[in-house]
Amino acid sequence: MDPTEQTTDVLVIGAGMAGLIAAAELQRAGRRVVVLDKSRGVGGRLASRRFDGATFDHGAQFITTRDPRFAAVLEQGRQDGAMEEWFRGFAGAADGHARWRGKPAMSAVAKHLALGLDLLLEMPVVALRQAGDRWRAETTTGRTFTAGAVVLTPPVPQSLALLDAGGIVVAPEMRARLAAIKYERCLAVMAVLDGPSHIPPPGGLAPADGPIAWIADNQLKGISAEPAVTIHATHAFSLEHWERDRQESGRALLGAAAEWLGAGVKTFQVHGWRYSKPMRVDEEPCVLVSQSPPLVLAGDAFAGPRVEGAALSGWAAAAAILTKHEDSLRAS
Ligand SMILES: Cc1cc2nc3c(=O)[nH]c(=O)nc-3n(C[C@H](O)[C@H](O)[C@H](O)COP(=O)(O)OP(=O)(O)OC[C@H]3O[C@@H](n4cnc5c(N)ncnc54)[C@H](O)[C@@H]3O)c2cc1C
Repeated sequence: MDPTEQTTDVLVIGAGMAGLIAAAELQRAGRRVVVLDKSRGVGGRLASRRFDGATFDHGAQFITTRDPRFAAVLEQGRQDGAMEEWFRGFAGAADGHARWRGKPAMSAVAKHLALGLDLLLEMPVVALRQAGDRWRAETTTGRTFTAGAVVLTPPVPQSLALLDAGGIVVAPEMRARLAAIKYERCLAVMAVLDGPSHIPPPGGLAPADGPIAWIADNQLKGISAEPAVTIHATHAFSLEHWERDRQESGRALLGAAAEWLGAGVKTFQVHGWRYSKPMRVDEEPCVLVSQSPPLVLAGDAFAGPRVEGAALSGWAAAAAILTKHEDSLRAS
């Protein structure tokens, strides 16, 4: 057997919320599942970073839920020590609706969901091809993965690029529908301060205007030992500054945040989210691109532009794969 080639029942591409939920559900249903992610860690946009003694959530800031099934996942995470409630409404405007955070930071939520999965990191898929009644994923590492079904969870433009690279033809109507899914961009500044910030409890706020969409105090949030803020620029600012020098854009955002910083900036880093949040969500919770062999697109662009939406899409993708798999067993 070629050691660079691995075969499984279902291949899940992407270890963000959608991919992890889909993989766990398929595994629970008795399928052999392999999850591949290009990054060094799990979580995708559920992201945390550490530098100079400080910890930052620089992607999703909090998790909300309306769906009882997802609420049960959060509750289990709380019982297992990977999550806790952060706040219920902004300063002076409590609304009683729980906002959850990861413990010690947001990436812990994904790490918790990844337990028990067959997961390979630093495994960027560059093309997906059909090989008879199976799918074959090629990675930059030279390893290939063959599976009877695939769940693709990268942001939609990236998923379409993988299909194009493997010569998979998507019906024109469906392609137009998928190509219409656009995402906001977000420049995220992470700054270590030399003293406490002026951001009021609970440690996060969304300014009404200006270039800042969100600013949070990671120390007040309870995830950073050192005073540390995360600033998310608006889509308009991020788009305008995308090609510009990141340090310069970071300094501009820190300048705009002066009233909330209240302390000196020791160091800062800037991360660019090209696909931050989908601007519109597809009408289906996942999209079956191919019935046989099954190939499903999932992620927050399908069931809601937030962490909960990604989870719901992951479940929908797993259900679609299981239905198709049963059909093919009946047919054979
Ligand atoms: C700045 C920011 C703030 C946000 N704030 C909130 C918030 O407060 N609350 C909220 O609910 N939501 C928030 N969101 C949205 C939320 O993070 C997303 O909706 C959710 O995490 C998306 O999950 P996903 O699994 O669909 O996608 P992702 O998390 O993007 O997962 C996709 C995965 O695919 C992997 N991948 C991509 N291409 C390849 C490839 N070729 N090969 C292998 N792997 C690949 C990526 O590495 C990634 O891990 C925020 C997002 C951002 C960026």
